[in-house]
Amino acid sequence: MAIKITQITSQSFEWERPGIWNGMHFYGPGRLHVVTVYTDQGIHGIGWNGGTAAVRPNNFSKLFVDYYKSFLIGENPLETEKLTLKLGEKQNKILGSAGLHTQVLAAIIIACWDIRGKMEGKSIHSLLGGKQKRVRAYIAGGYYAKDKGLEELKEELLYNVNTLNATAVKIKIGDPSAGIDMDMKRIEAAREAIGSDLDLLVDANCAFDLPTAMEYAKEMENYNVYWFEEPLAIHDFKAHKTLNASTSLTISAGENYYTLADFETLIENKGASMLNVDATICPGYDVALAVAKMAEEKGLKIAPHGCQELQLPLVAAVSNGELLEYYPPEVDELRKELFFPKLKLDSDGYVTVPERPGIGFDLNMDILNRYRVG
Ligand SMILES: [Mg+2]
Repeated sequence: MAIKITQITSQSFEWERPGIWNGMHFYGPGRLHVVTVYTDQGIHGIGWNGGTAAVRPNNFSKLFVDYYKSFLIGENPLETEKLTLKLGEKQNKILGSAGLHTQVLAAIIIACWDIRGKMEGKSIHSLLGGKQKRVRAYIAGGYYAKDKGLEELKEELLYNVNTLNATAVKIKIGDPSAGIDMDMKRIEAAREAIGSDLDLLVDANCAFDLPTAMEYAKEMENYNVYWFEEPLAIHDFKAHKTLNASTSLTISAGENYYTLADFETLIENKGASMLNVDATICPGYDVALAVAKMAEEKGLKIAPHGCQELQLPLVAAVSNGELLEYYPPEVDELRKELFFPKLKLDSDGYVTVPERPGIGFDLNMDILNRYRVG
């Protein structure tokens, strides 16, 4: 008899951490929304989202879980592709095409994949293809912060390289109050700190219009920048095309694409060559894997954005998985206690995929339960 979903629960958690901003958005408290999918065969799966969410309404998540639940009880959780379609595209008229609700859907689909892994005794990584056992990681950081000057930025990057073993680091650009001159000084300082052998990535979080992005790209060609991430508004595909054709830099984009069609359109426009697909946004592993395969056919690479514990099974599953984004404990002290096993960079800057059944990581509910808000 086929396995059936019997119950789905929603839990929201929130904790204080130092505020940070990327030039476009302020990131306040740390947050996590956890979905648990129960079945009639004693196996349950977990999924989550919102780990790095900017300030936004917190109480919608449970409402969407409750809404989806009415369609899911009695369904087979192993039919993730069917469920993604049924609760995603087929709800467009009711819920809108994408947004917070499809982020919740992603957590549900991830939980269903966790169930499949536990049932088959396999990691999601191996179920998705398992092409790589280890993947190089880069440390996300270089945020703007109050009283953070060039020296503090350099100290942070040196720490990422020397203590956390990073061979690639990222910094933010695009704060309107910084402007191009200050941002170039930040890039210069970053390059000076890490030396010429390591990789420097920059991320504008959609801050620029086309002329500004082109101006930045031209300047950044002098600093051996590994990639220029999210230069433009996400759906301005024509601008992506023009920018990408105009620069020798690698343009990366996709962390805010919610559908396969978004990626298809970006690729058709030759708008980027590095896709930052996020399994908690696009939504779930079925769509994320389809994006990765589509990229592979076109000779493009993926470097997933977001929660490293959930993106690692994806990036390591495919041979065109280039880099894993890694948020260090310095961005959020509590975060390092939230997941088992603790994911760390090996001495060569790579991370090793855990081959436990399912996601491969458990949540530390003893700690999380102290911060439950819904
Ligand atoms: Mg980004």
